[in-house]
Amino acid sequence: MPVGYVQIPVGIAGPLLLNACEYSVPMATTEGCLVASTNRGCKAMYASGGATSVVLKDGMTRAPVVRFSTAKRASELKFFLEDPLNFDTLALIFNESSRFARLQSIQCSIAGKNLFMRFSCSTGDAMGMNMVSKGVQNVLESLQIDFPDMDVIGISGNFCSDKKPAAINWIEGRGKSVVCEAIITEEVVRKVLKTTVPALVELNMLKNLAGSAVAGALGGFNAHAANIVSAIFIATGQDPAQNIESSHCITMMEAVNDGKDLHISVTMPSIEVGTVGGGTQLASQSACLNLLGVKGASKEYPGSNSRLLATIVAGSVLAGELSLMSAIAAGQLVKSHMKYNRSSKDVSKIAS
Ligand code: ADP
Repeated sequence: MPVGYVQIPVGIAGPLLLNACEYSVPMATTEGCLVASTNRGCKAMYASGGATSVVLKDGMTRAPVVRFSTAKRASELKFFLEDPLNFDTLALIFNESSRFARLQSIQCSIAGKNLFMRFSCSTGDAMGMNMVSKGVQNVLESLQIDFPDMDVIGISGNFCSDKKPAAINWIEGRGKSVVCEAIITEEVVRKVLKTTVPALVELNMLKNLAGSAVAGALGGFNAHAANIVSAIFIATGQDPAQNIESSHCITMMEAVNDGKDLHISVTMPSIEVGTVGGGTQLASQSACLNLLGVKGASKEYPGSNSRLLATIVAGSVLAGELSLMSAIAAGQLVKSHMKYNRSSKDVSKIAS
């Protein structure tokens, strides 16, 4: 029973200079400091020549769980799926489900008599969960002919893994796997970020790497990737629950150019975004996608809009990491939150 909308303030961070293009990044958030902070990171990146981002992998996953009466039978299906000839046949069946779904791999894991099959496929500009589920359904129906004793327990068996922290996504990737890097000059670190390169490198090592290791982090080797991911997800009509795996991120910092400048990178293996389907069609969310120039289906290269959006998410996370880490290194975190989060101004005003 839809009853209306909950309003969330939207601010713009930018320009984000990424792969030689400029983007105004919409962020929906109630956290006043966040847009201002990301904006400061964008400014530092811009003044240093911008960032470069690469999509390493693009595949949405779904992993049904099936049960046999013996572990031996479950193993037989695993070996069947791992035979390249069988894979080719199943890919044909899978791909019939959509013009855009293309099966890439099936990764198996066994627990006793139970088999988990992680299907991965490209999904064009859609985030792809519906698409991959339809393909999986077709394959399961076909497998039932060769394996009539296969009992399909569930179309999703959590080996996917959707909206839960899981090492499989961190290691194998889900959605778009993206790396983004920038070199921030020593002068910009000093003047815009109000700190020093050695202080940032040391803080990154102790906080984002050692501290997260001590905490037993899973994909959480960053300062606040989830802040930026959630804000962009809400603004652009993504599924906010997928923030869990989409925020997996390792932030690396290193002094380069004879120790003068800062090399910073964020590596994010499971950014799950789409520019068609789901909440992307709603009016405000469409406007935000339009602002980035990625709304809808790319006619020329299906998938290029959603991949571009994933790189923008990573670039914005890099900006966010730069700014928050600098605030912490300079001991300004509490002060800036008192100033902005207790302000009566709205976030868009703060961002400017
Ligand atoms: P999801 O799979 O992300 O849940 P939908 O179920 O809404 O999203 O699927 C996307 C729909 O949009 C499909 O019906 C698909 O055929 C259509 N579509 C049109 N153009 C594209 C495109 N470039 N990439 C992906 N899907 C597209």
